[in-house]
Amino acid sequence: MFKSLTSRIAALGVVVVVSILLLVAGMVDASRQTQESFHWVMHSSQVLRSTNELMDSVRSAESGQRGYILTHNPGFAQAFDREIEEARGAYGQLYELTKDNSQQHDRMRALGLLLEERIELMRTPLELARQSEFDSARARIVEGRGYDTMVALEMAAEKFISAERTLQAERVAAAERRLEGLRTLALIAGPLIALLSALISMMIIQRIRKPIGVLSGAMDRLGAGDFGDRIEGDMGSREFLKLAAGYNTMVDRLAAVSDERKLNNEVLQKMHQDVVASSTALKDRNDVIELLAAMSHRMQATRSDAELAEVISIFVPRVLPEVPGVLYSFNNSRNTLVPVSNWGGSSHMVDSFAPETCWALRRGQSHWVSGTGKDIRCEHVPEAHEVYHCEPLLASGDVIGVLYLDISLNEEQRFRVSMLTENIASAIVNRRLQKDLKEQTIRDPLTGLFNRRYMEEALTLEIARASRAATPLCVVMCDVDHFKRFNDEHGHDAGDAVLQQVAKALMEQFRDGDIVCRYGGEEFTIIAPGTSQEDLLRRVEHVREAVRGVEPELRGTSLGRITMSFGVAEWREGMDREGHRLLKAADEALYQAKHEGRNKVVGFASTTE
Ligand code: GH3
Ligand code: MG
Ligand code: MG
Repeated sequence: MFKSLTSRIAALGVVVVVSILLLVAGMVDASRQTQESFHWVMHSSQVLRSTNELMDSVRSAESGQRGYILTHNPGFAQAFDREIEEARGAYGQLYELTKDNSQQHDRMRALGLLLEERIELMRTPLELARQSEFDSARARIVEGRGYDTMVALEMAAEKFISAERTLQAERVAAAERRLEGLRTLALIAGPLIALLSALISMMIIQRIRKPIGVLSGAMDRLGAGDFGDRIEGDMGSREFLKLAAGYNTMVDRLAAVSDERKLNNEVLQKMHQDVVASSTALKDRNDVIELLAAMSHRMQATRSDAELAEVISIFVPRVLPEVPGVLYSFNNSRNTLVPVSNWGGSSHMVDSFAPETCWALRRGQSHWVSGTGKDIRCEHVPEAHEVYHCEPLLASGDVIGVLYLDISLNEEQRFRVSMLTENIASAIVNRRLQKDLKEQTIRDPLTGLFNRRYMEEALTLEIARASRAATPLCVVMCDVDHFKRFNDEHGHDAGDAVLQQVAKALMEQFRDGDIVCRYGGEEFTIIAPGTSQEDLLRRVEHVREAVRGVEPELRGTSLGRITMSFGVAEWREGMDREGHRLLKAADEALYQAKHEGRNKVVGFASTTE
């Protein structure tokens, strides 16, 4: 009920007010009683004074009576009447004054009877004197009849006065007692109320000071930026409890606002960082795009695979710093991927691998493994290597190659790789197209051998080189024996098939450094650098033997065996540098071989010249 501080203060206030009111009431009552006591004391004084006046008047009346009887002076008689009048007046007063006290009233009535008796006893002689019977009057006085009455009256008055004095003394004592009581009340109740008030004040101050201390402490902490502090526990009163709850709510809101502001700051900071990062990323991307454009220009301008590989090995590490790798190119004819370029010291280059061993090529998209067991590993990657990235190079769905990288890439690096592979793939495709175009101009479409035009250019170059290096250079001219027969017997297709298989046999039999060409029809020319005619004759003899073993067939049907005739000639100083003479010499030797029965190798003899 008294949980509220206000109601507690009100209750204590009521206690103080009631105490003060009680004290005041007590003092008023005590004062009233004291006043009453004094009233009665005064009353007794009045009674005593009136009694004395009454007795004085009786005595004065007696003196008047006696004076008149003795002196005959009527003044005394008048004085007698006056005094009697006064005595009666005093009696009347006393009669009224003693009505409140039956005992005194009875005494007063008895005194009244004695008074009347005395007056009568005095009046009788006076009346005699008035009738000039002074002697009789004197005689009456001398009789002394009035003396007893006077004594009785005096005694009655004395008794009455004594009783009244006792009464007065009691009343004074009562008044003093009441005054004492009043003083005691004032002395005890006053300090008590003061003490009570002080105690109450202290209690209230105590009740206020403690929660105010808690509140101000919390506010100080809040001022210092501590939003985690809350006021808990007993605050001593409902008002302070409400204040604490209000404070807690306010701190909650402030904390929420502060958190929100912090969050907003963080978001702003993050946004700022993002913007900075984005602008850096954009700048980086711009640089990369410029780099890729430069790379692309150079790649398009390359004139050989080696040049292309060099451009790639220079630019890829610039686009992908610190990412070692290998570029594999797809070799269509051999259905295999072979390394064309590597950079950054990649230690995982393999000589070749089949396209189906690479998951990037199988799926046609990037494939990477970021740790052991994280994804399926490509077979072409050495087992020790647990982290790598394969990027397929595709053009119109065709496999162009694979970009193999030693590490697993981040998002930016993946973006760069996708741009790189597009550029490299298109450069490789371009390079291949160029190459194919060139091949078409120097190759014979039926046999795949170099054509006569190429042979003539190559011969000029080889003659120059041989002349410069003083190394031997020979030419072989050969012709299929009785070739016409194949055409005649089996048709033109069979002739073509024979030419293709002869070309294949020649390619296999001659060395890598030899340039095998189709001169025209069923005639072939081989430029053999670095070999003397003597040595070459021996080698060509083997070729002739091998060709003899060839049994061309068309659609599974054998076309019969073939033979070839060979003429060999060596370049000599003095011959023209275009090789006309040399070719003619070889042709002459061939002619001789034909002439000598075909299926023969004949060396050009300078003596025949
Ligand atoms: P020899 O032993 O004297 O060389 O007799 P041969 O029959 O081989 O010689 P000939 O020059 O009389 O015949 C060559 C024939 O080759 C003539 C031509 O019809 C044929 N021929 C030339 N070029 C081609 C070709 O590209 N395809 C086919 N099927 N036949 C060709
Ligand atoms: Mg011929
Ligand atoms: Mg022929």
